[in-house]
Amino acid sequence: MNSEFAYQKCLSATCQSTFDLGQILTQCPHCGKLLDIQYEWDKLPVPKSLVNFETYWSQRNNPTRLSGVWRFHELLPFVPIEDVVTLGEGQTLLQCADSLGQICQHESGKLFLQYEGFNPSGSFKDNGMTAAFSHAKYVDAKIAACASTGNTSASLAMYSAVSRQMRSIIFIGSGKIAFGKLSQALDFGAMTIQIDGDFDDAMRQVQQVCPRLGIYLVNSVNPFRIEGQKTIMLRVLEALQWQVPDWIIVPGGNLGNSSSFGKMFGELLQLGLIDRAPRLAVINATGANPLYELYNQHEIRFDGGHYDRTRCDQYFANLNSAADTLASAIEINRPVNLAKCLRALEICDGVVEQVTDQEILDAKAQIGSHGMGCEPASAASFAGLKKLRSQQIIAPSDRVVCVLTGHQLKDPDATVAYHSGDAEMFAKKLGARGIESVRHANHPVRVANDTDAIVDVIQKQMKE
Ligand SMILES: *Cc1c(COP(=O)(O)O)cnc(C)c1O
Ligand SMILES: [Zn+2]
Repeated sequence: MNSEFAYQKCLSATCQSTFDLGQILTQCPHCGKLLDIQYEWDKLPVPKSLVNFETYWSQRNNPTRLSGVWRFHELLPFVPIEDVVTLGEGQTLLQCADSLGQICQHESGKLFLQYEGFNPSGSFKDNGMTAAFSHAKYVDAKIAACASTGNTSASLAMYSAVSRQMRSIIFIGSGKIAFGKLSQALDFGAMTIQIDGDFDDAMRQVQQVCPRLGIYLVNSVNPFRIEGQKTIMLRVLEALQWQVPDWIIVPGGNLGNSSSFGKMFGELLQLGLIDRAPRLAVINATGANPLYELYNQHEIRFDGGHYDRTRCDQYFANLNSAADTLASAIEINRPVNLAKCLRALEICDGVVEQVTDQEILDAKAQIGSHGMGCEPASAASFAGLKKLRSQQIIAPSDRVVCVLTGHQLKDPDATVAYHSGDAEMFAKKLGARGIESVRHANHPVRVANDTDAIVDVIQKQMKE
């Protein structure tokens, strides 16, 4: 372990305690705040230019160079490269999406989708899991656990099943988990603890249980996951030939992803590898919008780490309704990475917006019809872009990257209910949750079991 040059540090500006990498911690033992991985960069071999990473492309027969996370190892050097657990995560795609951009009058060549659904378990979570898992292996953990809205558990279960190094336990709430994700965890053989409560309850429970049983926790309170997820932004820069875009737009749930993006840009600035950070837009669902309210209504700012924690605590103490959105991956009312996300918003001059489930599902259908299907939570990014364009916060000439966080097949229920044209299914799955219309639906065409009738229908449709 490079423990001499990397360590864990309390995020609190008044505490700043440090701990070595061998300690299994998910919060500061002194003050309870989040921990952050810090490096003594001047003692580490950091490339002089991001272009230097391109030399690894010719070494793709080496799994750690193939990995879209570990080929940037020099920027997350908390574990020796020989010791990482990798499954080829991070083979993702940045796609220019002109026709989608036209929907919000965006200039051509300026809108990109960073498709994280291509990861081995189908979501961006693999970027973080490979990092946390590698740390877990280093500290010789025998069991790893997480609470999850679904994708973290799918990812943990996969790494655990493939590596055969650790058993995994996942904690889920009741009812809300999308079947695509639950099916993965079950299929991969993870012990699945279903709690009579929602995600926030599962999160509280896993944080109680893990220290009692000496279980390694891989939720995004785990600071090593944040390290792995930093590389999503490196791949975006790589695909843009190392040019910094103007905006990154990402859905916000537990706020690990936005936190890691901000940390990466802060470090790249510090290292002189970029000369400016992009602006960051974090998009909440209106039914789970604590970041939106704290940032915009209570005007909470990171303030170099001195943010108004009392005001945040009061806000959470007064929250009495449960999070409620069809975008289950961001159905979170007590985001554990709030402080780090505020830091990211400071580094990246960020904005926070919220979008309704209706806007999410419409955006999802539009993304799908342009060829990059995603799950509902992911579509919050494009829904957010449309909103920020209409408010003229984002200009038509801005280079924008929307992160599509998870694969289309993760949550087929919402997709089918939107498109099927089946009134009963619509009423039950969508209508009951406040969705009024399916204006971008691609309804299946019902026709009798009769060749002429089928030919007729096709000819009619083709003329439209
Ligand atoms: C986990 C997840 C999110 C939310 O990301 P955070 O880091 O928790 O803010 C969004 N979309 C998908 C598909 C996810 O799995
Ligand atoms: Zn502390």
